[in-house]
Amino acid sequence: MQLYNNLSAKERAELIEQAGKERLTISFYKYAKIGNTEIFRNHMFLAWDELEVLGRIYVAKEGINAQLSVPAENFEAFKKHLDTISFLENVRLNIAIEHDNFAFLKLKVKVRDKIVADGLNDDTFDVTNKGVHVNAEKFNELIEDPNTVLVDMRNHYESEIGHFKNAITPDVDTFRESLDLIEEDLREHKEDKKLVMYCTGGIRCEKASAYYKHKGFKNVFQLEGGIINYVRQVEAEGLENKFLGKNFVFDQRRSERISDDVIANCHQCGKPADMHTNCANEACHLLFIQCDECKEKMENCCSTNCMEINRLPYEEQKALRKGQGNSNDIFKKGRADHLPYKKDLRNIFETLNTSK
Ligand SMILES: [Zn+2]
Ligand SMILES: [Zn+2]
Repeated sequence: MQLYNNLSAKERAELIEQAGKERLTISFYKYAKIGNTEIFRNHMFLAWDELEVLGRIYVAKEGINAQLSVPAENFEAFKKHLDTISFLENVRLNIAIEHDNFAFLKLKVKVRDKIVADGLNDDTFDVTNKGVHVNAEKFNELIEDPNTVLVDMRNHYESEIGHFKNAITPDVDTFRESLDLIEEDLREHKEDKKLVMYCTGGIRCEKASAYYKHKGFKNVFQLEGGIINYVRQVEAEGLENKFLGKNFVFDQRRSERISDDVIANCHQCGKPADMHTNCANEACHLLFIQCDECKEKMENCCSTNCMEINRLPYEEQKALRKGQGNSNDIFKKGRADHLPYKKDLRNIFETLNTSK
């Protein structure tokens, strides 16, 4: 019995290509008590491997968080299998707007402490006491309410390329930082304002809404199924789309275009741009926004220094990296000092007290 994928990314890509199957990109999550995470993990891996599922799935005692792709022809079987697991019966599947057969190259099912690294100690509050879930139509109504404070629960590199009109987009690297910032700034409004929040697929808001209720906020709402589900509903029901730009996603596609607005700028020249680049230097891998011209001029790198290193023969690069840890350890997202147009850390709440 094989419980892990041992093929390289390249071999996988070739297999996907050969199979020539249309794949659907899907994400879902569920908070549930899972007793033996190891057994559950193995069970899921075996079933999904057979259905040719690829993706990144986290299993923890608190539930499951999955981002994956499945051949369209196996979708029904995949759903059927989910329905055999009591807490996953009829779980909401967020189906991506744009599909890419190479969004994921491997099936990885990992046991973790948490399904989202939230930095919270759950014993202090009840995660099941969450906010009111709203659909796209209700959400559109709510965010026009002058008494609403709309908060983007994602990180800076996500909201930078796309967010809802009038949303507060905390300039943070982690979910935990966001929670504190928002609470601090809305301290005086726990009872009178409507706190409306959203994230990519809804999972972060599940925790955040329960956290804010625990902290004394009286009117907490969350966008059900996040941006992904919102866009689906907007299309299906002909609603007005209030999301500007692109939705950042955590697979090879990096983002999905939702509206034609380009709301970000190239971190190198400042021109409007909203394409993320991973610096080509293996020892850097900085994720930053780069326009096409800079991409060409800088050879996919974030700096001239990285460009020079990237030009060296591979063996020489490897020797340089020795003792510096691998690139994953230093993977960082758009915070490098040498990118002059990166927006400054500023008080994102400045406008809040004056406008609302
Ligand atoms: Zn540029
Ligand atoms: Zn670099």
